[in-house]
Amino acid sequence: MDGKEKVDAINIAKPMLGPEEKNAVLEVMSSGKLAQGEKVDRFEKAFAAYVGTRHAVAVGNGTIAIHLALLAHGVGRGMEVVTTPFTFIGSVTPILFCQARPVFADIVEKTYNIDPADMKKAMTRQTKAIIPVHLFGLAADMDPIMEAAGDVPVIEDACQAHGAVYKGRNVGSIGSCACYSFYPTKNMTTGEGGMITTNNEELAAKLRLLRDHGQKTRYEHVVIGYNYRMNDISAAIGIEQLRKLESFNGRRIANAKVLSDGMSGVKQVKTPVVPEGYRHVFHQYSIRAKKRDGLKDFLNLENIRCGIYYPRLVTANAPIKPFATRPTPRAERATREVLALPVHPGLSQEDLARMVNTVAAFYVEK
Ligand SMILES: *Cc1c(COP(=O)(O)O)cnc(C)c1O
Repeated sequence: MDGKEKVDAINIAKPMLGPEEKNAVLEVMSSGKLAQGEKVDRFEKAFAAYVGTRHAVAVGNGTIAIHLALLAHGVGRGMEVVTTPFTFIGSVTPILFCQARPVFADIVEKTYNIDPADMKKAMTRQTKAIIPVHLFGLAADMDPIMEAAGDVPVIEDACQAHGAVYKGRNVGSIGSCACYSFYPTKNMTTGEGGMITTNNEELAAKLRLLRDHGQKTRYEHVVIGYNYRMNDISAAIGIEQLRKLESFNGRRIANAKVLSDGMSGVKQVKTPVVPEGYRHVFHQYSIRAKKRDGLKDFLNLENIRCGIYYPRLVTANAPIKPFATRPTPRAERATREVLALPVHPGLSQEDLARMVNTVAAFYVEK
């Protein structure tokens, strides 16, 4: 030991599960009905009401949500889908599941989200859908995106943006449909899980069909479908998590403010930007930092676990590389400069102060 007092690690994410979730799970187990049933139904209705859409369709995870959304819009072989390379690979692999071609547009430097102008340039007559990602909890610039898209359906990847707002409108209610993930590190969780929100009744019906083996009535299969259902145990957790989402997000936003205020004097760090009229729900709190890798190691030595989202572009991965036909220099640069500091609702004021002081100390030493 070096004589330093041992401090607990501050982790990058922490699922917030309480007695409510435990009791809800036990109730489902006692009922003996574990597969998609009444809890999924209730979770869908509550989630649709929260987002403000007419329909919500629950599925097994966020990647599946995007796959079903593409299929329901008729995306297939040889068609093109425009998206961002600065995202999790689950935004992109569903395009390949459909045997369509991903086309990548660059990002806006300040927001890390897809640049509507470059998105427009990336569109061709083959463009069948567009997937903007609301990265880190901040909405993509949906007005110019919707305008450039015209008749081409926009599928919002809201997997990191539960509760985010764009110019007075809820994320998840702006495009043709929106896809959510409930993976344990997200703003709310169901263990694994996903949801698709939409106002389009016909689309919702297609999604429900594709989710359940293309089954119209019992054992009558009218299309080739999938088993992409959510189960009632996950949905029971989701119902309880959704009740707490506003309080979780409120704490994320407050934590982000403490970090941004605390680091405002550190000129080597650029804190996240929140444009006027947006509600950023801080799935991640990503800074741009000088000597990023050194800062990460320094924080790690102090037991502060940061993350890099993302250390390489989706297009840097072997299966996606052949589709990297357009330059995305701003996205490339972000991979070298971003660092996510913990911002989850489980942090204490002491944790936040320790993070701010440690970041400041790193740059004083240099
Ligand atoms: C988490 C995530 C996904 C995939 O969701 P899973 O539930 O993990 O399949 C897709 N896109 C983005 C932006 C994500 O963060």
